Amino acid sequence: MIKAVFFDLDNTLTDTEGNSHDAMRQMFEDLHLNRRFDSFELFWQTYRQCNDEIWRRYRLKEISREELNNLRFAWPMELLGVKDDLLEQKINEVFFSHFLKLRKTMPHAYEVLDYLKNKYRLAVVSNGTKSSQHQKMANFGFQPYFETMVLSDDVGFPKPDKRIFEKTLEIMQVSAAEAIMIGDDFDADIVGAQRAGIRQIWFNPFHVELTDGKDAPDYTIADLNELVNIL
Ligand SMILES: [Mg+2]
Repeated sequence: MIKAVFFDLDNTLTDTEGNSHDAMRQMFEDLHLNRRFDSFELFWQTYRQCNDEIWRRYRLKEISREELNNLRFAWPMELLGVKDDLLEQKINEVFFSHFLKLRKTMPHAYEVLDYLKNKYRLAVVSNGTKSSQHQKMANFGFQPYFETMVLSDDVGFPKPDKRIFEKTLEIMQVSAAEAIMIGDDFDADIVGAQRAGIRQIWFNPFHVELTDGKDAPDYTIADLNELVNIL
């Protein structure tokens, strides 16, 4: 009997990828970065590749939060041949000032939360940076839906470490059998929930192929509104 639903935040409820892209474009224009980089597309693609890799390293505990933050723009800039600490600082500042104002969600996020909140107790489990996550919860108006937000910055262990899930169970006072985890990131959300013995729903809107050697999740959905068929 499921009593609690645990949600990942970025790219599961909020459209972090879309908001990042839009904020990056605005920042690129504000700072006239076409004078320093060949094109926005190249800047964006390089950023994304580096970003995926630094988050992978953070999940594996190979780098700290501080290193993650320091690498975010320094690394893609270095790959694009620009070494400029002041510019990097400015890029960081202007990007986040735009990013944290944007409110694009994944389709049906609010409808599904409205549906679920009357039937289950809800929690967020996230590896995102503490200050950003609190600001997002407020900006998106998600606070009324969730009893708690458990962050790797607070507990000290990022997903897929099972301890962040165990901590969430403890805070919500439910057993692993009474919880289910929903997230877009297979290696963080699904593997982590599997390790903690929690059922999993993989939100896979872009139909990513599951690589060999990984245990299939309990459920896979491509649109959040499919949750009403499961829960
Ligand atoms: Mg995510």
